[in-house]
Amino acid sequence: METALVLDERGFTPVIFEEQSQLGGALLIAERGQHKQRIGAYVRYLRRRIEDAGITVHLNTAPQIADIEALAPCGVFVACGAAPYRPPVPGIAGPQVYTAEDVLLERAHPHGKVAIIGTGMTGLEAAEMLIGHGCRLTLVEMLTRVGPGMLPMVVDDIMGRVSAGEPRVLTGHRLDEIRADSVRLTRLADDTAETIPTDCVVLAAGVRPRSEVTDRFASALPHVYVIGDAAHGGRILDATQDAYGKASVFDGDGP
Ligand SMILES: Cc1cc2nc3c(=O)[nH]c(=O)nc-3n(C[C@H](O)[C@H](O)[C@H](O)COP(=O)(O)OP(=O)(O)OC[C@H]3O[C@@H](n4cnc5c(N)ncnc54)[C@H](O)[C@@H]3O)c2cc1C
Repeated sequence: METALVLDERGFTPVIFEEQSQLGGALLIAERGQHKQRIGAYVRYLRRRIEDAGITVHLNTAPQIADIEALAPCGVFVACGAAPYRPPVPGIAGPQVYTAEDVLLERAHPHGKVAIIGTGMTGLEAAEMLIGHGCRLTLVEMLTRVGPGMLPMVVDDIMGRVSAGEPRVLTGHRLDEIRADSVRLTRLADDTAETIPTDCVVLAAGVRPRSEVTDRFASALPHVYVIGDAAHGGRILDATQDAYGKASVFDGDGP
């Protein structure tokens, strides 16, 4: 949306394709966390500006190369975001394995003993939600502290609420295998194996750019610019700055 707004202001005629039924992308998941209503307000603000600018939006549309070629665009900005990372361990495709995104969107309902793999913002927000649903949690983090990359005061704030559910916290542990009734971990400090009983597993081990989408466009079309999480998984500010920067210097020398 940011790219389209900047391009529109600069006199181009942007057209947005969005495969979902509404604009907002991962912000619609991010706003599910407690005290994050302002993210929802930001999405509504961007949508309003898109509407006011009269920018064409095709919802429920994942365009094919031919759809883009038909527009003969002078540039293509690919902002398809990132997908949850699934560590390549045995059992990862099990029916009791969910992503934190699915939990936050209430598309998945883990129960009982739940291991959350990863304690970044997404993992902690899923933890907060699951504590509220009465789950007994084990938080598994490969690094030596909970909330890597997060501001300590934000971690303290969320953990203050998560701690009410008395989760087991295993930092310095790597996920090695998911079984129907447990997860097998390695304690990295001394390389010992540990097995934790689980009913469900929630993956929150970060995101990876949707390179299958970006590669498809970049290999078939000229003047392709990959922006936001599709270029490098990050945060709202990173994605917005990237979008603003690339749209601001775009020279439109395409066809
Ligand atoms: C649970 C969670 C919590 C977060 N909390 C925060 C936070 O508190 N603060 C913060 O700064 N950041 C947070 N983030 C990160 C932030 O949401 C992202 O950095 C930001 O949304 C990236 O924007 P984007 O436009 O690059 O990608 P996205 O928001 O992922 O948007 C990509 C869009 O592309 C669409 N799409 C994908 N493929 C196609 C296709 N082939 N055709 C058409 N459309 C397609 C998708 O449907 C989606 O709407 C959070 C993320 C998550 C998942």
